[in-house]
Order: sequence, then C-alpha cells, then structure tokens
Amino acid sequence: MTTGTALMKDVIGIYRPGSTHMVGDGFPVRNLFPSNELDREVSPFLMLDYAGPQYFTPTAHPRGVGEHPHRGFETVTIVYAGMVAHRDSAGNAGVIGPGDVQWMTAASGIVHEEFHEKEFAKNGGTLHAIQLWVNLPKTSKMSAPSYQTILNTAIPAIELEGGLGRVRVIAGSFQGRNGPARTVTPIELYDLHLRAGGAASVDLPEGHNASSFVMQGRASGNGPDAAGEAELIVYGRSGSHVTIEASEDSRILVLAGRPIEEPIARYGPFVMNTQAELVQAVNDYRAGKMGHLR
Ligand code: MN
Repeated sequence: MTTGTALMKDVIGIYRPGSTHMVGDGFPVRNLFPSNELDREVSPFLMLDYAGPQYFTPTAHPRGVGEHPHRGFETVTIVYAGMVAHRDSAGNAGVIGPGDVQWMTAASGIVHEEFHEKEFAKNGGTLHAIQLWVNLPKTSKMSAPSYQTILNTAIPAIELEGGLGRVRVIAGSFQGRNGPARTVTPIELYDLHLRAGGAASVDLPEGHNASSFVMQGRASGNGPDAAGEAELIVYGRSGSHVTIEASEDSRILVLAGRPIEEPIARYGPFVMNTQAELVQAVNDYRAGKMGHLR
C-alpha cells in the first residue's frame, strides 16, 4: 500500500512487556526490549523500560537507583509524571519533570545516580516515565560523555489536523519541525497524544527501523491490529511511512532510527561490540576510570 509515493512499512509484530521488575526501589518497569529479543528490529535502540504510572507514598528518603556505571550507549529518560533527579561523575546534574527529557551520552563511561527528586519524594505522588537506551556506533563508544537536559518548553509541539492530536518532536524532524535532541546517529523520537478517532501520518527516512509504543489507550499502525496499554508495534525496515490511528484517547511514543549494523555485546550497564571490550569496561569501572560521584 502507498500514500502518495511513500511505501507503507509492514508490521512485524505487536509485543507485550517481556519482563516486569523494579529498578532500584523507585522505578517499577515493564520492559519491552531487550526482553522480547528485538535487537535487530529496534536498533539503534537497545532498551525500552516503561516505568509506572505508580503512586509513591511520601518519604524523607527519595527512592531510586544509587551510584552505577554505564559505557557504550546513551540513556534517554522521558518523564510524564513526577520528578526525577540525576547526578553523574562528569559533573552534570539536573531535575526533569512532566514533559522533560534527559539525554545522557555515557559513551566512554560515567557513574551516575537516578532518584525521585527530593520535594516530589517528600510530598509523594505518581511517577510515570520511560527510559530508553540508545546504542552508539563503534566509532563513538569511547567518546567523551555528555549530557542534554531538554525541557518541555524546548520541544516543538505540532497540532494535528482536526484538533485530534498533538506530536511533540524530541528528535528528528516531523512536518519540517526539528526536535532539539542532538543525536549521534539519525533518530526520530516523537511523543504523540491522539484523541479517539485521531491519526498521525509519519514519514521516515527509507531504511530506518521504527516502532510505536502505546503507553495508554489503544492504537493501530499500518494495519488492522491495535495495540493496547504497554504494547509495542514493530515495523519492518523497508518502506518509509506509518499511519497511527487511535480508537481511544492514547499516548504513543514513536521510536525510529537508522540501524547500527554492528555486533552487540552486553553485560549489565555496559554495551559494547565484543566480549573483550566488556571485560575492559568492567576493569575500567573497578579501577575508578569512569569517575565517582562527589
Ligand atoms: Mn542508569
């Protein structure tokens, strides 16, 4: 099927969370990948953890994840409700709230902590967020770490025709509007809110992987089968067009990008190309080469 000259992408499958677990004591997540073994189909993305929505009772001791390292990729945190505080060994710190995004390039290595922000923890409230891990190509895995705080106000929001939806462009370009995130390889990351009966027409570069994650509501993409809450529609690599149609009020994250065609070697918080590089990562971390939190 085509729309104009754009070839519709096929649907490979619709996936439910493959695991559910706590990250530290602050992030109750449903994992869509890698638990569904979708490495090739979702590259350059490595991980999608969907946190909450969950209510947390007030506490004087913020919940979260203490000091831990990363090397070889980026962590992207998108907050929908609640406040998340971050601090890392490269000297970066920040707090993100609803609509904000933190794009952290661990690259050669950082040590960081991720907690509920102090006041949010003290008052209690609902935490609702997504964390993605984005792979880096071999040539950038050992680059210097960097950090982008992308506030809601910096993210272009495009109202869809008919007033039935809104697209926030975090990365890549949608209808000529560019997202603020600086990415190492080409990535499109769109945060959609569609009302019942709303549709978004998404044009992507040919050959990019693409998927749409339905956080809340119910929506289909290029086909009759709809995805419900916490389900991921994964599209084939060929073709360039996706039409997303919501049958209920829905929140959807569209993830797309040029695949990184390199071997993936994973060990916990490290993602490299070879086992030897993983051993090096563990040794470098233990030797303090990824730094420490002050
Ligand atoms: Mn982390």
